[in-house]
Amino acid sequence: MERHPHMRVTDPVIASLVEREEARQFYTAKLIPSENYASTAVLEASATVLTNKYSEGYARKRYYEGQQFIDAIEELAIDRAKALFGADHANVQPYSGSPANLAAYTALIAKKSDNQRILGMGLPHGGHLTHGWKVSVTSRFFSAEQYAVDEQTHLIDFDDVRAKALAFRPAVIVCGASAYPRIIDFARFAEIAAEVGARLVADMAHIAGLVAGGAHPSPVPYADVVTSTSHKTLRGPRGGLILCKAEHARAVDRAVFPGLQGGPHNHTVAALAVALQEADTDDFKRYAHALVANAKAMAEQLLSQGVRLVSGGTDNHLILFDAASLGATGKEAAVAMDKAGLEANANSIPFDPRGPFDPSGVRIGSPALTARGLGPADMVQIANWIVAAVRAREDDTALAGICADVREMMTAYPPPGFEKPWPDPALLDTDRALLDT
Ligand SMILES: *Cc1c(COP(=O)(O)O)cnc(C)c1O
Repeated sequence: MERHPHMRVTDPVIASLVEREEARQFYTAKLIPSENYASTAVLEASATVLTNKYSEGYARKRYYEGQQFIDAIEELAIDRAKALFGADHANVQPYSGSPANLAAYTALIAKKSDNQRILGMGLPHGGHLTHGWKVSVTSRFFSAEQYAVDEQTHLIDFDDVRAKALAFRPAVIVCGASAYPRIIDFARFAEIAAEVGARLVADMAHIAGLVAGGAHPSPVPYADVVTSTSHKTLRGPRGGLILCKAEHARAVDRAVFPGLQGGPHNHTVAALAVALQEADTDDFKRYAHALVANAKAMAEQLLSQGVRLVSGGTDNHLILFDAASLGATGKEAAVAMDKAGLEANANSIPFDPRGPFDPSGVRIGSPALTARGLGPADMVQIANWIVAAVRAREDDTALAGICADVREMMTAYPPPGFEKPWPDPALLDTDRALLDT
């Protein structure tokens, strides 16, 4: 059967590009730790006529008629989020992780207050743009200060967090990270927040699936507000959600709508409900623990090859390696890996001697490969390919050889969300220029 039969007729150019992207996702080893494979059920929910419906407001308090089914879907998503994470309240409407963070700050910082200050983790130390980094609006709408990791251990420097909190007196402290390979001590953050009279926002965008599966401590007991994406380790649709203590429920809901957003993306809310049910299973618990074991196996193998890892290893789904230990820059390493079918991203490392556009590090992780069913022995093989690819970065023949081996391994582990017949690998070898004909 032809894929996307309708789109192929009405818009063959987009259909062809989508098909090539499907082949790319199928045959490459997805090592980007913020990415994953959503299940077929999640994809089905995302591709429904729910996208046609406007439903500004909240269940039973909408501005448009015709909400009987939308209300039921949103309430199910909320109930499932609360049950899965043990939260008092959930808002499932944020369009993604970044707007969820803006909503959290908006909810917790009173409009008329003199204190519009947030303290977050610096981007080069593993924090996210929306934690108050200088190019983000979060440092324009609020005034922001940033804490760091320790230069020796690469662990969050709680002396620095506390000193900055005492000096800066933020209204909100943000914890959570996009590039931090260790367990986050949410209780310690809560203590510091309490000491300085700040609210605590925990952004679990990267680790929500680990938290759901019991492979990382939960921030829910400690944080006033917990924000997350739904598409990273949680394996849901591209979107966001917010959990909070009962006392902040009204403020959070009002911050999301009408504060920052219009109508919720109902197809995404339905897909999130599906993903939350999938995450509330023993299978998912096994997945969460397996992905940590896989990341550790990959880290061990990289270390044994002399690769320098930020913090010396990993406790979660993510590894940052210093490409200089393989004689390359981060970008050179990531480009070579891409040619070898190993998809990653160049990333700053703490105290990086190189600039943000050409950093020293590469960020990799295990969530997507674990979702495909790869195990620790496969991760050792992947680690060996990473080292070989970076070392052979000038040798396109060697890189093509690794790429063929990667494709063979990926074919043995078809990802969730893909149905037979598998994509034609020849689609990947077609010259891009052919797309225009
Ligand atoms: C990915 C991420 C976000 C932003 O999510 P988007 O969906 O890309 O807006 C926010 N915070 C952290 C820690 C993240 O890793």
